Amino acid sequence: MRLGGEPESSNFEDRTGQSSSGLGGMGGGGSMLGCLLPLVMSRFGLGGVVVLVIGYFLLSSLGGLGGGGGMLPSNAPQRTASAGQSTLDPQTADFLKRVLGSTEQTWTEIFAKQGQRYTPTKMVAYSGGTQTECGFGQAAAGPFYCPNDQTVYIDPSFANELSQRFGAPGDAAMAYVIAHEVGHHVQDLLGTLNKANQLQARSSKTQGNAVQVQVELQADCYAGVWATRAHDAQGSILEPGDVEEAMRAAEAVGDDTLQKQAQGYVVPDSFTHGSSAQRIAALQLGLKSGDPAVCKTL
Ligand SMILES: [Zn+2]
Repeated sequence: MRLGGEPESSNFEDRTGQSSSGLGGMGGGGSMLGCLLPLVMSRFGLGGVVVLVIGYFLLSSLGGLGGGGGMLPSNAPQRTASAGQSTLDPQTADFLKRVLGSTEQTWTEIFAKQGQRYTPTKMVAYSGGTQTECGFGQAAAGPFYCPNDQTVYIDPSFANELSQRFGAPGDAAMAYVIAHEVGHHVQDLLGTLNKANQLQARSSKTQGNAVQVQVELQADCYAGVWATRAHDAQGSILEPGDVEEAMRAAEAVGDDTLQKQAQGYVVPDSFTHGSSAQRIAALQLGLKSGDPAVCKTL
């Protein structure tokens, strides 16, 4: 991606290197598994809401579905820097701020066309774990959005996971992940997350999962809308190969692909993010149209 021409976001906070503790945990000490996978279950309930790009990331770390407690692997990333000292390299900080800044520019334009004002999300970069209004957030669960504090949380080392573990390297792959999380913020602003909560409150587990899949696919579509519209004074910031990079990431984080990796088989009813094919299609829809109105909603 050709970053540099767009404004850096001022809604960025660097918490890397800060000491953090998992004590208390999400939902008051319960397993994160229960809080993270239902994703948008409980905005007003216990534990708050966390929307992840990769729900099964933690499952694959644990080696299976339904493992229950013990979210904190003993080999969880350790904070190495001395207290309070940032471990974020300037290049990565710059990248995160510019991608976030670009989403602000794009969504501000889109909202303005509807006569609405876009209130940007905040972004917090952290290492290992950090406290959020949705409970204790952990890097092991992948980047996530917390509606309670309207913030995207990201451990920048996720870029390495994306590249090495998921086989989706490149700045556009990482930008897709960020734009997906920003997509959840857009859903938050538009009331979609509340609607999803209400629907889920009166549905079975399977139906609730289906609602969640729709939410996630719409966020993928929104990521595509951003990518296609992202521009600076010279035009689109997309470079050859960027779309393919983003597609590879969308494919890698499909529920079927992740389940196959984690447990060797696929349970479609338990999908919370959509299959690889669905995620690619959603991203493509946004990329081709550049119009959030075509992104299928609840
Ligand atoms: Zn998501």
